[in-house]
Formats: sequence, C-alpha cells, structure tokens
Amino acid sequence: MQTTPPAIEVRNGSKAFRADRLALDRVSLKIGHGECVALLGASGSGKSTLLRTLCGLETFSGSDSEVLVNDHVLQQGGRLSARVRALRRQTAIIFQQFNLVGRKSLLDNVLMGALARTPLWRAILGRFTKVERRAALQALDSVGLLEFWAQRASTLSGGQQQRAAIAKALLQGPKILLADEPVASLDPESTERVMTLLRRLNDEQSLTVVISLHDVDLARRYCPRVIALKNGVIAYDGPSANLTEALLIDLYGPQAAAALHHPPVVAATVTEHIHVFERHPLAA
Ligand code: ADP
Ligand code: MG
Repeated sequence: MQTTPPAIEVRNGSKAFRADRLALDRVSLKIGHGECVALLGASGSGKSTLLRTLCGLETFSGSDSEVLVNDHVLQQGGRLSARVRALRRQTAIIFQQFNLVGRKSLLDNVLMGALARTPLWRAILGRFTKVERRAALQALDSVGLLEFWAQRASTLSGGQQQRAAIAKALLQGPKILLADEPVASLDPESTERVMTLLRRLNDEQSLTVVISLHDVDLARRYCPRVIALKNGVIAYDGPSANLTEALLIDLYGPQAAAALHHPPVVAATVTEHIHVFERHPLAA
C-alpha cells in the first residue's frame, strides 16, 4: 500500500544567526495533510524562524538540514531548491501585522495574493482578469468580508484586516497555511473569529494549518496537535490534550505558566482593569 507523504517534513533543521548560538537546533518534524498544528514556545524560542524556513523565506544553516513540501525538496543544506517558486505557491503565510496596504481597497489587497500566479507584466501593470477578481470576491466572502470589498484596508478593525490577510493568502491557492502569531494583536472577540476561521478552512478545505501562538488555551481549544519549542529544540510534539503543567512550567517558567490558567479578563472600567492587573501573577 502506498503511504501519502507528509505535507511538511523538516529533517535536522538547524539555524545559526550568530556563531555562538543556534536559533533552531536539529529540529525534525512531520506534519500530515489536513492537520492543524499549534506552534508554542516562549518568545525567542524559534517559532517565527521555523515558520519562515517552512515557506523558504529563510534558509537553514545546517549542512544536513532539509525541508520537504509534499515530498519535494524546498531547501537542503542551506540552499533553496530550483523549484522554490512553484513550491512556495503551495504555502501561504500570514503575520501578526497583517501586511496589507492601508490606502488600498480590500479587493486590491486580496488580488495581490494572486500575484504568485500572475505573469510579471500583468502584475506590474496591476491588471487582473475577471476570473481573478471573482476569485478575490469569493475569498472575501469566505472570510465574511464581502460587503467591505471597496473599503480601504486602513479603515477596518484589526480582526477584519487579519481576515482580509487570510483571504489574500487563500487567493494564492495554497495547500498549506502558516500563521505567525495571527491573533497576537487582536481583542478577544476578533481572536476567536480568526481562530474559528482558520479551523474552518482547515476542516472544510483540508488546508494544512500551522499556527504559532502565545496562548496555550487557544492552542488547546483549536489545534489537536501541539509542537512546542524551547531554545530552538522541540520540547514537546503530541496531542494538545496531553500538555502537562510540568511542560508549561518548563516552557514558560512558573509565573507565566500560572498566568496562562487565568480566565479571560472581563473588565470594562479602569478600576476593574487595575483590579485584574493587580491580581495577575505577572504583576510583581
Ligand atoms: P520566536 O518567534 O519564538 O519569538 P524567533 O524565531 O523570532 O523566535 O527567534 C529565535 C532566535 O533567533 C532569537 O534568539 C532571535 O533573537 C534570533 N533571531 C531571529 N531572527 C533573527 C535575525 N534575523 N537575525 C539575528 N537573530 C535572529
Ligand atoms: Mg515570533
């Protein structure tokens, strides 16, 4: 029986930005098609670097480091494959800062997602076909923003902008969606909407999704699997349901781990906020 290759495979992924320290240290992992994986770890543990290597925005520095996308080599020994353009198209990435052009309409922003598939001369002239415009509107519809297509991106809320960034990523026609702290700057309600959307795309379109998060609770609720990094090494890879207190303390330290268990803050007034803040374990 033929087994399907993983959507993403990393072998011995090492990255040194400086001679004396490895940002990633022989990371190996496999992510199957249609999985939804949360990437956890304290700030500086290597989450962003790992995500960037998966889509070829960053190269590893280890001579035996490899990234395979759907069984095709994306990078090997610190070199991007000659087929990188075709392979990059399969993987879209979104960021905490949305990366939209504020003065352009949502439609124009989303259409930029089609550039990966557009001949250069049309991209330069900013000409898009009717089919591309229709696809962009459909993508906006799928993230619940159809009615805002003509509005400037800067006039929308953070949550709406992140959903538009997801629509733009979808227009690339990806099989894999990487998200680097996509909800880090969003309010709780927008956070839930964006996470629900990512999970729905994962479910309905069998999109393979990898999301770096700093909220363990979100990882538990939305992602069946967690990969946790500590100082560039995989400290845990398994079901999110099996994350233990000891592991969280190891990853984040005792105070921060305790803070993760606080219920969502519900405070309206300044006094209430101060009250919540003073009870917070991180408020020394
Ligand atoms: P995370 O996303 O988990 O916060 P990063 O992947 O951004 O972690 O960073 C991992 C380590 O690599 C950190 O020590 C960081 O300072 C370092 N690093 C990341 N990007 C660069 C860079 N472009 N140049 C030098 N050091 C970097
Ligand atoms: Mg980061």
